[in-house]
Amino acid sequence: MIKINQYRLFLFPIFLFLIFSLLTAAGCRIERKGEQPAPAPQSKPEQQNNLTVPPQLQGLELQGGSESTSRKISKDVVIDYSAKYPKMVYLSGSKRTNKIALTFDDAPDNVYTPQILDILKQYNVKATFFVIGKTAQNYPDIMKRIVEEGHVIGNHSFNHANIAKLSPAEFAQDLDLAEQTIFNLTGIKTAFYRSPYGVLSDEIVKILDDKGYKIVAWSVDSLDWKGLTAEQVEANIFSNVTKGSIILQHSAGGPEEDLSGTVKALPKIIEKLQQQGYQFVTVDKLLNLPAEKK
Ligand SMILES: [Zn+2]
Repeated sequence: MIKINQYRLFLFPIFLFLIFSLLTAAGCRIERKGEQPAPAPQSKPEQQNNLTVPPQLQGLELQGGSESTSRKISKDVVIDYSAKYPKMVYLSGSKRTNKIALTFDDAPDNVYTPQILDILKQYNVKATFFVIGKTAQNYPDIMKRIVEEGHVIGNHSFNHANIAKLSPAEFAQDLDLAEQTIFNLTGIKTAFYRSPYGVLSDEIVKILDDKGYKIVAWSVDSLDWKGLTAEQVEANIFSNVTKGSIILQHSAGGPEEDLSGTVKALPKIIEKLQQQGYQFVTVDKLLNLPAEKK
């Protein structure tokens, strides 16, 4: 018996050591269970200048189509909204001024926008460019050039969707995404919005008002989005321009849009209207509104 007890006494510390080791190992495992598991590799969301495009905007066919195929909005609709919201929707400046504003939609691209910038620089004329966020990302240098050469930038949506087909939440997301994209590229928080195809609704006006925008429409449509000749573009402008006019042209468009008429007409438009006593200004100066949000 004594021998057996001595044997047990000898084995007891080894037994204790084994139990301790087992518990320690189990403890480690319990502790590890409490840790956050390493994240599984995920597919990267679509990145736009460090911005994540919301799933609703990724999944939808938002590009509303080219101006030439989709622009069927009646001018009367825009005029109605201007009458209803005179402090939000602007068609023109004061009729008592000789100032007028050249505006170019759908900027930027690397075909027509640089040519238009060259002509504006040559004549030292400042204009307003309404920018599509999605394409702005593709041409950051042209965005910088527009700003550096003293032109004003407005928000023309991220996707150039027909915004009438978006829910208010989707419209607000598209607006914010364009705003953030323009800000990332230029450091500017633009205060002006122009709807793709001129689409407006009470809800759209309210959202833009809440977000600190003014809506800049136009009083003279060059109709250049129809792929007109320089002579036709000139005729449309010369026959409609008056004091305070906001003139609508395009500096980019869909792949099928030919804006060479716009480029060719621009020197003559500038020269002739200056000879008639008009002064070209950016829309903030025409409307006496701040060009940027604080
Ligand atoms: Zn447009």
